[in-house]
Amino acid sequence: MKKVLVLEDEASIRSFVVINLKRSGYDPIEAATGEEALERMRENPDIKVALLDIMLPDIDGFEVCRQIRATNSKIGIIMLTARTQEMDKVTGLMTGADDYVTKPFSPAELTARIDALYRRVGGDEEVPSFEIVNGPFKLNTRNRTLEKNGERIRLTQVEYSIMKMFMDNPGRALSREDILNTVWGRDYFGELKVVDVNIRRLRIKIEDDPTNPTYITTVWGYGYKWGF
Ligand code: CA
Repeated sequence: MKKVLVLEDEASIRSFVVINLKRSGYDPIEAATGEEALERMRENPDIKVALLDIMLPDIDGFEVCRQIRATNSKIGIIMLTARTQEMDKVTGLMTGADDYVTKPFSPAELTARIDALYRRVGGDEEVPSFEIVNGPFKLNTRNRTLEKNGERIRLTQVEYSIMKMFMDNPGRALSREDILNTVWGRDYFGELKVVDVNIRRLRIKIEDDPTNPTYITTVWGYGYKWGF
């Protein structure tokens, strides 16, 4: 599992980050104080990315960053900054950190930064060209199979084709016509409703909560979007 240290003293922010990291396929290691963070680092030498809050009850995030960096030059470090005034400070002290995210941040923004840093520090094993990995999902285009968190999800060929189209276009709104043309082919004279029926079935298979879908979201009056 891809371990990420989450150092944040505010429990509500910490759990928000943790939930979103888990959802994106990471294994968050939590710490509420600077000392605790350094201890978690010693216990988990395989942590590849660390998120460090700056204002903490004991030692500040910059000091934690400096201490981690002193023994580990490879780890990716992202500072979580509270206010824009801290930006100068961050820039000045960026020596040890690789990136920073300003609060409040969206889960998508944070995950995108972590994904990018993870790739840069080489934490990701080489992804074979026949695999598409998006968050907890892995699509194998050779076997035409889908896994979520390592567990196989059985799909029909049509559902597989829809998933492939989504995972090839993360974050992009796809119209129902596009989906119909790509998956069923331009010669198919069916109704758009067949798209909705298949999406509904797909949601039951892949969503954590199919009544409140977060992976396949509806773009009202247009179609659907893959992204989280
Ligand atoms: Ca804080």
